[in-house]
Amino acid sequence: AAKDGGRGRLHFYSEELHAEAEARARLEEDLRDALAKGELQMHYQPVVSTSSEQITGFEALMRWQHPEKGWIEPQRFIQLAEDTGLIQPIGEWALRQACADVAQWPADVKVAVNVSPLQFANPQLPAIVANAIANAGIRASQLELEITESVFLSDIANTDAMFAALKKLGVRLALDDFGTGYSSLGYLKKAPFNRIKIDQSFVRGLTEPDSHNGAIITSITSLAQALGMETTAEGVETMDELDLIRHYGCSHVQGYIYERPLDREAALERLEQGLGAVARGPRSARAPR
Ligand code: C2E
Ligand code: MG
Ligand code: MG
Ligand code: MG
Repeated sequence: AAKDGGRGRLHFYSEELHAEAEARARLEEDLRDALAKGELQMHYQPVVSTSSEQITGFEALMRWQHPEKGWIEPQRFIQLAEDTGLIQPIGEWALRQACADVAQWPADVKVAVNVSPLQFANPQLPAIVANAIANAGIRASQLELEITESVFLSDIANTDAMFAALKKLGVRLALDDFGTGYSSLGYLKKAPFNRIKIDQSFVRGLTEPDSHNGAIITSITSLAQALGMETTAEGVETMDELDLIRHYGCSHVQGYIYERPLDREAALERLEQGLGAVARGPRSARAPR
């Protein structure tokens, strides 16, 4: 019986794996057409200054409206885009779209675009970025590129030259998800970052009594300040977290406490109407999703 059970399970697993592979292949097929069919959208989440409580910019976050499956989260398709090389055209589209949208906003509002390590490894990236900026007619300083530290770990031939070329364009650079990977302090020296984005895993649990996250955030913000960089705390959801983030010296906040990612029209509306509702929000209850 044990033997049968074992064989049965093996059979079950391989069928499941097969089904998974097929679903992935179908999604890949769909992703190939998504761009041309206009199924991809950029949504925008406000980045808020802790001192002025004004929106200083937005992070552009990609969304896929699949004709049958509905909204698909980037966690499910960015990796697929990277594995298939589709990240190059999709990433270029994201840059162009974000630049076109920021052109509709007041001149001091920035947009931050996530750049995959594979885009970063593409020697054409500076030309693509320059083109997107020129086409939209925006100033380069309105565009911030978010890069994760994985670009330092991969075997990208000329990381320094790429950073220099991007910097020369006048765009801003942000180190995304700081603290999640190997987070060497050396990375902060290696590239001319304007901003460190503190990963939301440090914000979660900030209010728990024995958490060391406060000490970690304080060190990051003071280091950033000494290096002339701004800091954004990601994923702030509650008033208590917001109070602590302010206390620990982060210059900017992003999170559901203020706003979730909005479509282009709603983002523009937010800019016109301002934030405002946060002070009335619950103290420690999580914002609804
Ligand atoms: P990320 O760059 O770290 O983006 C922040 C993520 O945190 C976003 O998830 C955002 O919706 C989410 N978030 C913001 N505030 C809160 C909060 O208060 N609580 C919680 N729980 N989450 C919050 P999203 O939009 O699902 O994107 C996930 C990741 O996908 C991004 O992480 C980024 O790495 C990647 N991604 C998104 N758009 C693009 C893109 O256009 N290009 C590339 N290459 N990657 C992208
Ligand atoms: Mg990001
Ligand atoms: Mg992040
Ligand atoms: Mg992330």
